[in-house]
Amino acid sequence: MNIFKSFTLEAAHRLPNVPEGHKCARLHGHSFRIEIHVEGEPGEHTGWIMDFSDIKAAFQPLYDQLDHHYLNEVPGLENPTSERLALWIWDRLKPALPLLSEVVVHETCTSGCRYRG
Ligand SMILES: [Zn+2]
Repeated sequence: MNIFKSFTLEAAHRLPNVPEGHKCARLHGHSFRIEIHVEGEPGEHTGWIMDFSDIKAAFQPLYDQLDHHYLNEVPGLENPTSERLALWIWDRLKPALPLLSEVVVHETCTSGCRYRG
């Protein structure tokens, strides 16, 4: 079974490695929606896999590094594609959240990335 929590963050970025003239080379912003998924068996007594507030607490330090920041200036996100952002979150969140099973980055309403480690 899988549970998830969604977060919305506002951030600016530009993609430095796209072909010349590509619109993503220009500085722009997104309302990113991030889903953090964890997988496990619900406890017999608790009935849940884990407390949603524990997911929020684990993600909060990363959220604070991303929300209202220029992602290109965040160490490790010099080329902040959705794919790199999903990896960045996974690598930093997994130690604090061992049941982490998937990170989803929605860059727009219609574009995003799923990473399962
Ligand atoms: Zn963009």
